[in-house]
Amino acid sequence: MFLYVWFFILGTIVGSFVCLCIDRLPLGISIAKGRSFCFECFHPLDWKDLIPIVSFVLLKGRCRYCQKRISIFYPFFEIFSGCLLVFLVYYETQILKALLLFLLIMDFIVISIIDHKWMIIPDICLIWEIVMIICLCSFYQIPLIERLIGLFIISGPIFLLNCFLPDSFGGGDIKLLCINGFLLGYRKIVVAFILAVLFGGGYASYLMVQKGVNRKEHMAFGIYLCIGILIALFWGEQILSLYGL
Ligand SMILES: [Zn+2]
Repeated sequence: MFLYVWFFILGTIVGSFVCLCIDRLPLGISIAKGRSFCFECFHPLDWKDLIPIVSFVLLKGRCRYCQKRISIFYPFFEIFSGCLLVFLVYYETQILKALLLFLLIMDFIVISIIDHKWMIIPDICLIWEIVMIICLCSFYQIPLIERLIGLFIISGPIFLLNCFLPDSFGGGDIKLLCINGFLLGYRKIVVAFILAVLFGGGYASYLMVQKGVNRKEHMAFGIYLCIGILIALFWGEQILSLYGL
């Protein structure tokens, strides 16, 4: 029980850092250097303003210096991150695997939110993902040849499609599919891509029919890829066996 409390606290600290990445990366502000500051009044924040969840409660959801409201997203996300890490440690018997999966999911969340808001996927997120994937590979027994085919089986054709129909997919989406193809192998990256197209296509149809959005308007695809990749990572084999593959 005591162990889970520590993992919850660790999860909230990582969640707090993820919020900082979401705020800073698209603006080109360093995530490693410089003190945290209020995004309204730019006043540097003290350590006591930065304790996950606790600071928000003590400050009653307002900045200590300018009294502007702090988004409720921050404490909620920190609670979610803490719970997610506890769940993964409970669900996965190997603690190292649980920690790596947690960091991978956090990276997917940063990618999804930044792509949704700014239509970009920062390279630093993809580099971080490569590191996580290399560490995670030993936990998933997939032949090297399947991984190597996975690198290009989806990203290759999409890259070619982009040459003929520019901007049909973002460059970040192609890189995401390429590196995750190595993690999943070619069978499961195909599952991930089909799921992403189904989810993304479903949502795009909803927007066109319900909200009258123009079909030429661009839609961020990163979030659907991340969801598809995660489903394929956890349940890919079960989905494939459903179809006798
Ligand atoms: Zn402020």
